[in-house]
Order: sequence, then structure tokens, then C-alpha cells
Amino acid sequence: MTIQWFPGHMTRAKRQIEEKLKLIDVVFELLDARVPQASRNPMVDEIVGAKPRLILLNKADLADAQANAKWIDWFRSFGREALAIDANTGTGVKDISGRVRALLKEKIERQIAKGMKPRPARVLIVGIPNVGKSTLINKLAGRAAAATGDRPGVTKGQQWIRTGGDLELLDTPGILWPKFEDPEVGFKLAATGAIKEEVLQIDEVACYILRWLAAEYREALVERYNLADLPPELPDIAAAAGVLEEIGRRRGCLAGGGHVDYAKAAGVLLRDLRTGKLGRITLEAPVI
Ligand code: GDP
Repeated sequence: MTIQWFPGHMTRAKRQIEEKLKLIDVVFELLDARVPQASRNPMVDEIVGAKPRLILLNKADLADAQANAKWIDWFRSFGREALAIDANTGTGVKDISGRVRALLKEKIERQIAKGMKPRPARVLIVGIPNVGKSTLINKLAGRAAAATGDRPGVTKGQQWIRTGGDLELLDTPGILWPKFEDPEVGFKLAATGAIKEEVLQIDEVACYILRWLAAEYREALVERYNLADLPPELPDIAAAAGVLEEIGRRRGCLAGGGHVDYAKAAGVLLRDLRTGKLGRITLEAPVI
């Protein structure tokens, strides 16, 4: 689902999350491990405030393992606990409750000191569309439990989902908006499938991504498309367009008159990227 965000819509989404925060002990901020910065809502710190928070780098199976480790260190350097997971298969998911216990240690100790039995930690999952919120809720619940009625106008009571472990989840996640005013963020989100390609020029998205791939994942690119003549650098979009044309020619993406259909070639590249055919790829590095 892709949501069109307008100022009124953002205010409403922010208010809805703030309402839910009153009910919970800890927030899981779900990010896309391939684009941890671009998939982050610009106002998340303001919205979540001081509530304990665990950052989950989801789709870690599609991201570069080394980059995952770098991003986790980067978040930790700001005092934010982060974990790489794959909500589809469940890799890393079993480590979540231990991290939550560590985050809520003082609260749990206070409850025990008062002679209370610690109750399950109440969790709200927040993140931009398509980052995997429902998949994670269902994985933690061990069944299809995520609420599906979060269309505007559908009012539905919130349900708590017991995870079997020591967590209790709200079945309606908090939907945050991405910061798509920045064109580079838009390219990254389109490349990972977080926003619809049609919103942007697909060949422009592909050229942007090609420049990154040529610099960071050169071997994978050369091997996949037989690009023996790939220049050492793609200094600008025009250079990237030349490579896209080459990919299109090799893949038979032709328009009339033997010309390459750039949109088709871009489609091939982006599909290969999203389905992991180019290997595990992360599209941004933390700025230290
Ligand atoms: P939501 O909009 O945040 O609730 O996102 P969904 O849970 O609907 O997931 C969006 C898409 O991402 C679906 O096609 C999921 O199968 C896929 N997905 C979710 N988590 C993962 C993951 O960890 N790895 C991979 N490869 N795909 C995932």
C-alpha cells in the first residue's frame, strides 16, 4: 500500500501514534535495512519522545551483512539499541524479547521490588508503509494477527496480541510517513519498493541506483549484466544512462527502431535489485 501524505494526513497519523503511546511500554521502530536512513520518518524522535525504543532493521536478508553491522554500531553510538531481523523467515526475531527486557530493566526491577509479578511488555510497532510491520506482527504472534482494516474511516477496536513470550503487541501498527521531499530519499524508497515507481521516473531511479552500485557493488553489477567495459566511475546521470542503455541492449529491452527502451531496462534492474538477484545490497552508508 502506498499512502499519499498531506499535511492534514500527517497530523492525523502523528496524533494516532501519540494516542497509542499512552498504552505501551516500548516502541519498535521498524526500518528497512537496505535504507535505514531513507526509511526513517523525519519526526520520529519528536513523536515517540522518551518512550523506550528498539530499532529493528528489517529485510536484513536483502541487505549487505557488513552494512547491517555498521548501521547497528551507528545507532548504538547514539544510544539507540538496534537489531537486524528478517520478519519473513523470523531470523533475529527471537532476540527481540531479550533486548526489550534489557531496555525495560529498571521498570521490571521496580515491579519486582514492589512484590509485583512483571507483566508482559506492551509494544507498538511503527514504520513507513511496506517496511514489514504486519509481517512482523504476524511472525511474533505465530499466526495472521495483524489488523487489516486500517483504511481511513474504518474504526476498529484495538486488540492486544500475546506473543507467547513476554511481549504483548497492539495489532494496529503506527504508520509513519517517509520524508520524500528529498529526491535522493525518493529514489531509494522507489528502488526498494516502499513507494510506487510510477510516482517517479523509473529510468531516473535506475540511473541513481546504478551510480551507487557501480561504486559499491561493482563486481555484482559487472557479473549480472556482463558489463566488462563498465567505467571505473559513473560521474553523472549521463554516464549512468549509458550503462542503463547497455543493460537494456543485453536484456533485449528494445523500443522501435532498435533503440533501447530505458523504462524497460530500468524495470529489469530494479526487479533484480529487489529480488536479490544482484546479491545482498544496502543503498546507503551511515555518515560518521
Ligand atoms: P507493512 O505495510 O509495513 O505492514 O508491510 P508488510 O508486512 O505488508 O510487508 C511488505 C512486504 O515486505 C511484503 O511483501 C512482505 O512479504 C515483505 N517483507 C516483510 N518483511 C520482510 C523481510 O524481513 N524480508 C523480506 N525479504 N521481505 C519482507
